[in-house]
Amino acid sequence: RGRAFIHEACATSGDGAGKRYLVTGAAGFIGFHAAKQLKARGEVVIGLDNFNDYYPVSLKRARAQSLSGLGVPVLGLDLNDGPGVAELFRLCPFTHVLHLAAQAGVRYAARNPLAYIQSNLAGSVVLMEAMRAQQPMPSLVYASSSSVYGLSRRFPFAEDDRADQPASLYAATKRGLEMLAHSYYNIYNMSVTGLRFFTVYGPWGRPDMSVMAFTRNILDGKPIRVFQGPNGTELARDFTFIDDIVSGVLASLDTSPPSADPKVKPAYRLYNLGNTQVHTVTEMVDTLQELLGAKAIVNYQPLGPTGDVLRTNANISLAHNDLGYTPRTNLRKGLEEFVKWYFAYYGPDGTRRSADEAGYIPD
Ligand code: NAD
Repeated sequence: RGRAFIHEACATSGDGAGKRYLVTGAAGFIGFHAAKQLKARGEVVIGLDNFNDYYPVSLKRARAQSLSGLGVPVLGLDLNDGPGVAELFRLCPFTHVLHLAAQAGVRYAARNPLAYIQSNLAGSVVLMEAMRAQQPMPSLVYASSSSVYGLSRRFPFAEDDRADQPASLYAATKRGLEMLAHSYYNIYNMSVTGLRFFTVYGPWGRPDMSVMAFTRNILDGKPIRVFQGPNGTELARDFTFIDDIVSGVLASLDTSPPSADPKVKPAYRLYNLGNTQVHTVTEMVDTLQELLGAKAIVNYQPLGPTGDVLRTNANISLAHNDLGYTPRTNLRKGLEEFVKWYFAYYGPDGTRRSADEAGYIPD
């Protein structure tokens, strides 16, 4: 069924003038939204995901089901399955690869370091090898992260700032991915764009991340864990709404030069995609309490050596100038959208959760 399925999806004539997109990590938060938006404008899109259980699989299945209903098949395939990935490229020659699959999360890395090496480094190389074997080569847009700025204290972060002091293994693998992708550009002329996302949140979001994890606990009357830096310093984040991120992702795909012409050096590009308005975690919690109509029980904890940095803040001038990237959603508006989705998805009191989600305790 797999092959026929891919053939059929690949042969669908989209409005995209022969363009075909592969979205890795399509059952994930950002992949789901990006694939949906690409399909909405008439492109041929195929998704891939290994549906791992880092967070509840039911949410990944629901996203994939929704995509499938829109005509985007999401293949259950691990990037480390070299023959499977190569076969996929043979069956469906892609023009664009949006590589979002990854082992995400900074704290989990301390417990399962190899998962990060396998998905973010080895899996990415398997993917880029399959891309290289296809002629003409597709263009690559891949997800990096604000975490690569690590212990940098210069705000806001710009793309040419130091990124050699990772505070987590996750960050180290994302920086490693940037270097690997850069080498595919240098050696093979692959057109490559890296996107450093800053704390993305919104509908269909990630249950391991603060916005969703706090929402569950606030509604369940359970304490939430808020980390603090030295002397009670507040953690602060450049929270970025999913629709803004997707607009930057699509603009990156649309402006990616093809890797095809051997005489023209394509491009290696790297952009911050953030919001630029920084909020403390306490400010985020205050807004959530108000929107949920429930009080949070806050347990403050000192920030351990777990990988979180104190503050993130994006300089987005480069993405603005090159891609026209302009984030439009402030934290309050974005949280309103998130809460609306949460109640629609989990029921008005947030308790209509499937068995695997009910038992899930975020890291
Ligand atoms: P997500 O965990 O929801 O999505 C990633 C998906 O990749 C998951 O569905 C997972 O099952 C899949 N996956 C993992 N390893 C795989 C493998 N070896 N083969 C196939 N599929 C695999 O995360 P997300 O928030 O959607 O993040 C998307 C990308 O953006 C990731 O690369 C992440 O590191 C990056 N990023 C996210 C944020 C954020 O705030 N959400 C911030 C910075 C960077």
